[in-house]
Amino acid sequence: MADSDAFQLYDLRVEVVAGDKEMVCNHREGDYFELSGENLSLPPGQSFPIYPLAALLPLLPAKQRKTEPSDWMTTDAEIACPDPHCGGRFRITRTGVTTFRHGDVTRVPLGPASP
Ligand SMILES: [Zn+2]
Repeated sequence: MADSDAFQLYDLRVEVVAGDKEMVCNHREGDYFELSGENLSLPPGQSFPIYPLAALLPLLPAKQRKTEPSDWMTTDAEIACPDPHCGGRFRITRTGVTTFRHGDVTRVPLGPASP
């Protein structure tokens, strides 16, 4: 990338898909949220329960970044609901790429690259 202050992240869409059991939590098939950079957005009027969100959050920053083709983070896209009685699954899809500027997202100065 020619501009050394710029970096790119994938935009994500996380959609509820049906599993092999009935869903227990307050998420319905087709519900979704989107993530661009640090910003999560929901369609107007739709909610999303916090317990599956808590299970999804650690994975989202990794899914936003480029990964090796053989990395399981590249190939695996469905996450199970953390409620053991719930059949809900959450499919993470990379929907696009957004370019950000380092100086817009942190006050830490750019320095030599870390290993
Ligand atoms: Zn659930």
